[in-house]
Amino acid sequence: MTKATMNTICAVFALTALLTSCSSPSKLTVGGVNAHPSADASAVQSPASRQTPSTSEGISPTPAEPSPSPQVKAVQYKMTSVYRFVPIDQTNASKKAVLLTFDDAPHNEEVINSLLDTLDKHKAKAIFFVNGYRVKQHPDLLKLIHDRGQTIGNHSWDHIDLKKEEPAKVESQIADVQAEVKALIGKEPVFFRPPYGSGGDTVKQAAKNHGMLFMTWSNGSLDWEQKAPGDPDKVISNVLKQLHPGANILMHELKWTAAALDGLLTKLEEKGYSFIDPETIMISP
Ligand SMILES: [Zn+2]
Repeated sequence: MTKATMNTICAVFALTALLTSCSSPSKLTVGGVNAHPSADASAVQSPASRQTPSTSEGISPTPAEPSPSPQVKAVQYKMTSVYRFVPIDQTNASKKAVLLTFDDAPHNEEVINSLLDTLDKHKAKAIFFVNGYRVKQHPDLLKLIHDRGQTIGNHSWDHIDLKKEEPAKVESQIADVQAEVKALIGKEPVFFRPPYGSGGDTVKQAAKNHGMLFMTWSNGSLDWEQKAPGDPDKVISNVLKQLHPGANILMHELKWTAAALDGLLTKLEEKGYSFIDPETIMISP
């Protein structure tokens, strides 16, 4: 063997060793554990490779970060001019159904948890109409209501009589709640209820401009007229007295209403009523 041949062989060995030492760490550092800087950099630079099938190794691709596409439910109900709900033609939705709503949220964690637990127990959905100033004070409670699968509605920022206000004030009272809610849960409310049920054309138009369905109610529990400690039985009897198919039931985030809810929903179910999922209501402001 000549010296030149020896040198060539050595060079080949050296090159092989070099390639091995450089390529093996990068194999070991998938996921960035104990990576040396160059492997680390390549892992950071090529996140797409994690989503691409590695055919040579037969590894299934890790699915791309799931982008939660909002679950769009089939529209089943529409609201009448007197704020009641009727099934949309050609759907199998029951006429005997009611919409549950709770105003002036969110401010009492205990009451909210009780309402949420009872709604879950009855597999019921509701709208929680919130005031901006309360959302500002209790952002976690707003997120809790949303995270537990219930719907957020806009009930103005300050809970003032909007009918008495100038258009600019009406607009800010509505728009500021939209923005605050969106910042916390990623989407704006599509339902609006004016405080005291007081809204003229200006308020209706402002709600419409924000893509919201304006509503008052058709069945008032009168829970707001009670003083603490309140009587849950009265809440139940008031609702049952005014019960009708498609009822839009107004309640509040109050202790005695939370105490009444299980009994009320049980009575409604016994009478053959189901609960309208707000996400199945047609929004055509
Ligand atoms: Zn209110």
